[in-house]
Amino acid sequence: MATTDGRPAFDRLRNSVRQFDVSGKILLMPDMAPFGVRLLASCFRAFGVEAVVMETYKALSLGREFTSGKECFPCQVTLGDILHYLLREKDRLGSSFSPERYVYFMPEADGPCRFGMYNKLQKMVLDRFDEFRDIPICYLSTNNAYATGSIMPADRSPAFRKLSYICVIIADVLDRIGWRVRPYEWRPGMTDAFLDEGLGALRSAIESEGAGIDFSKLFRITEEIAATAATFIDPHKPRRPRIGIVGEIYLRSHPDSNQNIVRQIELYGGEVVNASIAEWINFIAYDRDVKLRRQCKLFWKEGSHGTLRHWWRQWTDIQMERFYQAWRQGQVYRMVMRHLDIQPDHGMGSIERRLEGERLFSFAIGTEAALSIGGALEYAHHDFDGVVNVFPFTCMPSTVCAAVLKPLLHKMRLPYLDAPYDGAIQPNREVAMRTFLYQAKQHLEARLNGRNDKANP
Ligand code: SF4
Repeated sequence: MATTDGRPAFDRLRNSVRQFDVSGKILLMPDMAPFGVRLLASCFRAFGVEAVVMETYKALSLGREFTSGKECFPCQVTLGDILHYLLREKDRLGSSFSPERYVYFMPEADGPCRFGMYNKLQKMVLDRFDEFRDIPICYLSTNNAYATGSIMPADRSPAFRKLSYICVIIADVLDRIGWRVRPYEWRPGMTDAFLDEGLGALRSAIESEGAGIDFSKLFRITEEIAATAATFIDPHKPRRPRIGIVGEIYLRSHPDSNQNIVRQIELYGGEVVNASIAEWINFIAYDRDVKLRRQCKLFWKEGSHGTLRHWWRQWTDIQMERFYQAWRQGQVYRMVMRHLDIQPDHGMGSIERRLEGERLFSFAIGTEAALSIGGALEYAHHDFDGVVNVFPFTCMPSTVCAAVLKPLLHKMRLPYLDAPYDGAIQPNREVAMRTFLYQAKQHLEARLNGRNDKANP
């Protein structure tokens, strides 16, 4: 297997899909969770990387043209996004378009999921365009818990990592504020407009002061957003059935790909809580912790003390990281919940206890299925009135999750809906959604008689 210039294809992939210092480059980021990706782009900008969130879902046909149909939907969407952006950029700049200025950012995951191969596949597609061949792909990987050491100068990486984690949490909280307030707002559209303003204020604060890792200004803005948003709730509107979303992270977070499922549910009378982005980041750190602990035990038994020291150091690092994550996440949620009763995030420990208690699945099997099954059980035990599993058509972990959740939640008499997406419009989706919401309302009525009086505790 060789490229046209004679170099082995695998070497080319290794050299052009890698982790390297992206300072001074234009970093092209695919859109996903709208608040999250924009705050992350601002984190990069605070550290001298000109990060751009690409326009999304404008060229799905391009993504489809260059894939075989065996890939998952997120691969087609993100491929369409990068090709659309680059083709337009080339048209805009003409002869001054220079590929060396750009880096395409496409994280990857290890394990059984195909996602780990998408950046390689997308590089092969970019190589088919002469003018895009020299654009490298930079990734963060679950393999080392999204270590940022090699994509930033070493002295800046720890600060970037802290800032980006804080921004993930703040973005999650902004989402939760929107989901809690929007269904009950006094005037349609006021919550969205206000949150967009808040996002702008947060982005400017991150870009101007974020690198100093003094987060007090970010916290102050976030708290003010929560306090003001709480006043948008009309207390005369009765509390709606609460619907918990689980599923594949890209599909459940990317509104265009999931045909705006959150808005759909709100339209048909529900209040939504989607699984957070931090849940996935925390899971990756947790998973690494478990793997390192296993390695340490192994080397201890073997008496390989030199190797044990190396693994032990890594294990203590991940312990500190997990401690930092839990502390920061708790800090931001507590601050917001002083003003508004958003849904707290569930921790890895409680999800694992649910899974182990019911003996349904195990974190040891890995993949997002563990999180989705555990997350759905958490919703069930926290007075939710329905669960929706959102995933790309043919997604392997989500299909496993559906197989476990459907009979289980049926037994618990909690309404459940599978929502697979591949870009096609399913004519029966609306009927399924409306029926599901009707069941959720009945579930709510059976559970309580719903006065919405907890917005300002
Ligand atoms: S998680 Fe699902 S959608 Fe994502 S790559 Fe794996 S199988 Fe595909």
